[in-house]
Amino acid sequence: MEHLSNALKAVFKEQDGDEVLFCADMLQKDNQYNRGEMPRPDTEMKESQIQYLLRKVNAYNTLDQESIVGQVVVSEWMKPLKSHKELKSFDLSVFNMLLHFACKTIYFKNNDPVCHYSKLLRWHNVSNLFGEDTFTTVFAASLDIVNKSKRKYFDWPAYIDHNNKEINALFKNKMADLHMHLKGSSYNFDISWLSIMNNITSMENVFTEVYNLRKTYGWDKDLYAKMYRACAIRLYLASRTGLLSENAQITSAQLSNIIDDKINNANDAIAKSAIDESVKRQLLESHSLEFLLSKAKETSKHFEDKSDYQDLDYIRIPRYNKDNVRSILSSERELMYSVFRLLLEGCDDYKDISSLFYSYLCYKVKFRNAIIQLNSTVGFHNFTLYEEIKDKFIAKRHKKFLYKAAIESFLINGKDRYLETRIVPDTTAEGIAEKIKEIAESVDEKYKERFSIILHFIKSRDERKDKEYRHKELREDIKKRAFAIHKFRNNAEYLGVGSEDYPLSGYVVGIDTANTELMCRPEVFAQAFRFLRYHNIKNNGRQRPNDLNITYHVGEDFYDIADGLRAVEEAMIYFNLKNGDRLGHCLVLGTDVRKYYSMRYNTICCTKQVLLDNMAWLHHKCKRLFGYTSLCYYLEGIFNQYFYDVYQGQIYQDGKINYELLDDPDVNNNINDYYQSWVLRGNNPKFASDMEESDDELEQEWDNCAENHEYGIEIAKFNINALELFDQYHKDEIVERGSEAVAFTIKESYVEDFYKLLEAIQEQLLKEIESKRISIECNPTSNYKIGEMSNYDEHPILKFYNSGLNTPYNKHDIAVSINTDDQGVFSTSLEREYSLIALAIERHQTEGFKNSPRQIIDWLDKIRQMSVEQQFDNDIFNYKKN
Ligand SMILES: [Zn+2]
Repeated sequence: MEHLSNALKAVFKEQDGDEVLFCADMLQKDNQYNRGEMPRPDTEMKESQIQYLLRKVNAYNTLDQESIVGQVVVSEWMKPLKSHKELKSFDLSVFNMLLHFACKTIYFKNNDPVCHYSKLLRWHNVSNLFGEDTFTTVFAASLDIVNKSKRKYFDWPAYIDHNNKEINALFKNKMADLHMHLKGSSYNFDISWLSIMNNITSMENVFTEVYNLRKTYGWDKDLYAKMYRACAIRLYLASRTGLLSENAQITSAQLSNIIDDKINNANDAIAKSAIDESVKRQLLESHSLEFLLSKAKETSKHFEDKSDYQDLDYIRIPRYNKDNVRSILSSERELMYSVFRLLLEGCDDYKDISSLFYSYLCYKVKFRNAIIQLNSTVGFHNFTLYEEIKDKFIAKRHKKFLYKAAIESFLINGKDRYLETRIVPDTTAEGIAEKIKEIAESVDEKYKERFSIILHFIKSRDERKDKEYRHKELREDIKKRAFAIHKFRNNAEYLGVGSEDYPLSGYVVGIDTANTELMCRPEVFAQAFRFLRYHNIKNNGRQRPNDLNITYHVGEDFYDIADGLRAVEEAMIYFNLKNGDRLGHCLVLGTDVRKYYSMRYNTICCTKQVLLDNMAWLHHKCKRLFGYTSLCYYLEGIFNQYFYDVYQGQIYQDGKINYELLDDPDVNNNINDYYQSWVLRGNNPKFASDMEESDDELEQEWDNCAENHEYGIEIAKFNINALELFDQYHKDEIVERGSEAVAFTIKESYVEDFYKLLEAIQEQLLKEIESKRISIECNPTSNYKIGEMSNYDEHPILKFYNSGLNTPYNKHDIAVSINTDDQGVFSTSLEREYSLIALAIERHQTEGFKNSPRQIIDWLDKIRQMSVEQQFDNDIFNYKKN
């Protein structure tokens, strides 16, 4: 099916909607009409047109390969499906390609589309690109015509179920999603699409804003114009399929006036004409998309028995007997279903409808790929680009639906479900209360007690506007937000809504951080985390909020494995992580050391500071794990070199040592002192020099957390040299010299020892996490898209927890959970994440380490149970009431 997937990518993702309209003579290009020279790609696509698109997919090495796939598209996939009598096919059409894919992967069960379990991975990867609805609606239309039935229900899950009975049974038990970010966990694409299709004329500035942010990353500058045309086409298709009430329908003449440049000429002519001004205005208005759209929206306000979600769309959103948040998805599904049906049953204007719908789908897929992270470039930078536009296109009054869908789409699937969602804390207590209230208000009464909130700070690079110490601006911002959280939790007056008033602070159960970690290490958050964790609630006992637990995103993105492992240990030391706390992702603990470094020819690219820190840290680890070996000697040599370079700029300049200054250096290059200074980095930058005393009670509480009082850290404090190095670390010239980038290659003769050391450290940290009973939150699809896995079965979860499974890895029993992270961005659900992992393990069995399906399901079920155990809020049904 690989070729069919590539062909689908070519025909639906690489095809431009404008091109389709041009070939159909509906749009001018370079002031020209097509006039029948290029065949319409939807029904008459030529092999050369497909080959051109296939080249853009870039999946084939030779032109001959592209050519043969192009031939198959024309001779087979665009043709009716002969062997499927249960399906009605199109005449020669690109839409048959969708049916070809759908009939191999999905079927209908109890009237809802369901995926064959064995095809789930393929379905997931391909439907991600186009949206599942593109396939499910064409399949439903095709089946229903043969069955002579007409579908009324379109509220199947956003990500369809599969037919593995045992795994489905597992989902009927208690389930918890512990790691999801509210903003990216909703029907992000679908709500954005409806928002644009209903409000396009007021969104030009949003498109311009995003274009300016994204132009260097290939954002289409004509995207607004394209969405404008898509919007007009949608209005017309809804008219043509009877989904708009008669007085709101538009004609094909009105449509072509809008999508074609002719409109400008026509409007110019009207504007210049000598007719009465008011008539002129009326005429101009009746031509405009804004006017037609507002008419459609106006009539939708008068629907009888309106769905609660009708505000989102001018097409009627069906009201089902089990009306729930999935209804949001149903109006667009019904539109697609109806157009597919119209085409399958035949109509007089078949050619035009077909071209219009094809261009509509191309526009939609284009937008989908623009806002959802789908391109194959791995890495966090890529991801953060998408992060910023997750909810940009959603009109403000529709945000409540975004929250609602994020929380309810998971909770409606079972009665014992619970989730912890993450939001950024505001800088004021009122701001935090307002935001939480807004979220709680958007959620249905029966789900109000089934979710909690984790407040996450955002990592960002050191701005260095104020150079007093590292990350000064961010540290101050964190402190402000930490104080806001503190005040918010102490104020029992912040109450929620509903039949009973829930104290809002009861929703908050933990703290976390998010965003790329390369330029922002755990040390920046340490004081705030200690401060919030040990926060004493004084609010006259009207409420009992949970103690705040800690979870921390770490080891997801790193310069190299040593750097990532060190970050994990920093989080553990600086935050005093303990049983009940969690770590997010930790991919670095399961990354294959040998594969990772050999792929990079044993060269590490990072900053001098990071390399220097890594050397001191690895040196310490090496001594502890293997004793003083020759590798220690090697690490020391590199350490000395970079220490001179970064810390002793005057002594070491232009690659030479100034021996006269060497007698009296500012700081000594003792690698052990340096290691001790690293241990202290979780302390406030000024703790060793000049902390001012404050009268303010809150400030005093904050100051009490300036130092990490754990045993080993207290000892480091008595090392004068380490203290001096700690102060130096925050000095501007050190920061500057240390931030220079280097490419460092491990010396050939030490490569094997280096690998062994890193493998030993991974193992040591895993054991430590296991014995401290800290748990790890895993997010398979997110990790697959951001990390370096080539398949789901390479996910480190198998190294963290493999009790009961046969694997080639060391045995570990770490408490893990499977979660979704950003399900709206990664197009997934918790059920899908569980299933993909199970399927991948079943499919990719290592010789000598086979597992039966039952073994895998039992293992999965243990993970489900552990997720429930690890939730921060263990008393969700009792404490929120007064
Ligand atoms: Zn996350």
